[in-house]
Amino acid sequence: MAKNYIYRCVNCGKYHMNSDILYLCTKCSSENKVGQALKGVLKVIYPYAEIKDKLKVQPNYLKESDYLDLLPIENIKSLPPLLVGKTPLYFYDKHIDKKDSFSLHLKVESSNPTFSFKDRASALVSAFAKEKGIKTIIAASTGNAGSSLAGICASQKQEAIILVPENAPKAKLTQVLMYGAKLIPVKGNYDDAYNLSLKLTEKYGWYNRNTAFNPLTIEGKKTVAFELFEQMIVMPDRIFVPVGDGVILAGVYKGFEDLMELEMITKIPQIIAVQAEGSSNLIDNLTGGEPNFRAASTIADSISVDIPRNFYMARDFINKYGGLGIKVSDSEILEASKVLASQFGLFVEPAAAAAYAGMYKYQAQGQITNNEQIVVLLTGNGLKDIGTVSKNLEFPEAIDPISFDFELI
Ligand SMILES: *Cc1c(COP(=O)(O)O)cnc(C)c1O
Ligand SMILES: [Zn+2]
Repeated sequence: MAKNYIYRCVNCGKYHMNSDILYLCTKCSSENKVGQALKGVLKVIYPYAEIKDKLKVQPNYLKESDYLDLLPIENIKSLPPLLVGKTPLYFYDKHIDKKDSFSLHLKVESSNPTFSFKDRASALVSAFAKEKGIKTIIAASTGNAGSSLAGICASQKQEAIILVPENAPKAKLTQVLMYGAKLIPVKGNYDDAYNLSLKLTEKYGWYNRNTAFNPLTIEGKKTVAFELFEQMIVMPDRIFVPVGDGVILAGVYKGFEDLMELEMITKIPQIIAVQAEGSSNLIDNLTGGEPNFRAASTIADSISVDIPRNFYMARDFINKYGGLGIKVSDSEILEASKVLASQFGLFVEPAAAAAYAGMYKYQAQGQITNNEQIVVLLTGNGLKDIGTVSKNLEFPEAIDPISFDFELI
């Protein structure tokens, strides 16, 4: 029995049946051109009225069934055997030392199997492929999406093919190879890798995990909203999300929107999109019209994005639900990395530290009021990119263990 959901196009509003594998709206995708945000990204719509009726009889059934009725797969067992999601949420009361203080919650996504948030998307994509009997999944990636797909596929006995721009970070490429995926470096940038992945998808019938292009990337990432809903006693007031292509941001919104449709919550938290000053193509184009994108440059490679693939959906969500954007400099990102590691014991990658830097800047402007519940998404592990932070560290010289000078220690 096919699962009961449909797709709605973010650009033209057209509904599509779920009868087959579908990536973009067939009407809008013909307008897509190289170097532009994707048109025709699809949002998955569930039979909310039916689910609401079930909830009336069994108020806990969604939680007890791992939210299966809000996922486009038939069986929870299709998901990888690894623990994806269900990440820790650490709580710090009155953390920032000011009189108007607030409750800080750090959602640590580096606890995922491949050490980044991307596993939430890869897990769902992998489960879907399994249910459709597809053994090979392909993705174009600048790093974490590829290393994530490689690891998740390894755990599911699927084959992963990862196309990367030739300059992708070494640690992430090492992961891809260790997980046994096929790594194909492409001469050129992400766009070139992306376009080649589409050609291969068409030629060989492999399943494609490209971010935003595959609507399940958004559905997978939304599970973080369900977890926050479960883990928090009081709903969050604001959530700081690092943004590159805008799929995590859209996922967080989509999860809360599903809960709103079911009247399980009455308000969507304010989402604050955090971007690097040198890579702010979403924040710079929030006010309507055709976007104008600039080439990106920041130390935070996971959010260094020339063309945010999920631009239209991300912008719609921010504007619909009163979200905001905040930009942080590379030095603020580095400072935040140091604070997270040395004051919390959380060593995260620069893209994740950016979210904390955004929160810190926002509260320093006096914008967070007393007793607010604040969440920061720490999206990836620090060991994925030690090059950036280690440049600023002083590695001590070795000392002679016998004739050392006590003054030096
Ligand atoms: C991919 C990624 C992001 C940004 O997510 P988008 O969906 O591209 O906006 C942030 N942090 C980390 C660690 C990532 O890997
Ligand atoms: Zn459309």
